[in-house]
Amino acid sequence: MSSEIKLGNTLIRADLNVPIENKIILDNFRIIKAIEHLEEIRKKSRTVTFLSHLGRPHGVESEFSLVPVAMEMSKILNEEVIFINSVYGSEVGNKINNQPGKIFLLENLRFHKEELENSESFAKRVTQNFDTFILDAFGAAHRRHSSIVSFGKFIESYQGKLMTNEVENLQLLVNSPQKPFTVMLGGAKVSDKLELINKLLPIVDNLLIGGGMCFTFLKALGNNIGSSLCEDDYLNTAKELLESENGHKIHLPSDFGVTKSIDSGLRKDKYITEFSNDDIGIDISNKSINTFKTILKNSNTVFWNGPMGIFEKDNFKMGTQSVTEIVSNLNAYTVVGGGDSVSAIRKFSDPSKFNHISTGGGASLKYLQGNELPGVNIYKPLIL
Ligand code: AMP
Repeated sequence: MSSEIKLGNTLIRADLNVPIENKIILDNFRIIKAIEHLEEIRKKSRTVTFLSHLGRPHGVESEFSLVPVAMEMSKILNEEVIFINSVYGSEVGNKINNQPGKIFLLENLRFHKEELENSESFAKRVTQNFDTFILDAFGAAHRRHSSIVSFGKFIESYQGKLMTNEVENLQLLVNSPQKPFTVMLGGAKVSDKLELINKLLPIVDNLLIGGGMCFTFLKALGNNIGSSLCEDDYLNTAKELLESENGHKIHLPSDFGVTKSIDSGLRKDKYITEFSNDDIGIDISNKSINTFKTILKNSNTVFWNGPMGIFEKDNFKMGTQSVTEIVSNLNAYTVVGGGDSVSAIRKFSDPSKFNHISTGGGASLKYLQGNELPGVNIYKPLIL
């Protein structure tokens, strides 16, 4: 039956929300993933059109245009991806109808407030130029926006393969992880990851915490963390977690790269017990890296989200670079949740060395927390 499928003019809601600075794309990972199944879809379609949001524009703002994304897609595919400066109307319909076999990209969905308001009339207007809709934007699946939850009310709709694959891989982590199961979290904020920690702590064997977020835990234990990042409002919560029944599973770094000024780029390595008041912890150091390495090497499942330090700066990248290399060479089932950890992998290693790298930062964390995502499993999976 699947080989008979005819998609006609196909519309794909992808997540092409990539970091762009001065019209230069800093990381094209999401673009590469969004076009992974394009050839299969194309064989069954008359035309294929992508649409996505980009950033958080307030109305039409040229710096949030998807033109650079169309150029990048064209470069990767070695074929012109025709950019259409609109998301609905006769301009879109005419261009698509007159150019069978072509690939198109529409302008930023969020130039229309109706997208964020989950407007049904907007959904109807956008979809009326197409025969089939494929929802494949896992990175936006936690948003109750029109393209995520309402487009399917008007045309034949499917869940794309990227989305299905994301869900299957993340589900495996929470439902049947091979033990020992280790989760490694980093990045700036504890508050962003508290819900995740609460959900995962009972099911993991080890929780390694690095990055800026570990200092709230270290301060809660009574350490002088100097001028390092800390969320004082969460000190009590951190203390409760450490003292809870599963608190022994939490492993914190014991030594750090420190600086007096992040802008200076200067680094000195010291133990947490040696911090002075003006020291800022900006990376984990050798002893902690080795402790994390031993735990990671003894794990059969690893989930990693968030850098171990300010890896964007050369002098502060050692911890993140080291754990990237360690996790890439494990025999374990390895999953990485979007965002900065993906940039780190692309900078320091090779994404193919990981079992699954999620395209969704916030969405992957929300999914692992056990939240139902409005855009997940609402349409039948596309099988070609
Ligand atoms: P998040 O969005 O919470 O995952 O945070 C990612 C950011 O955390 C990255 O830009 C890192 O530079 C930053 N980061 C990691 N470690 C530290 C640290 N020790 N102090 C301040 N920022 C950090």
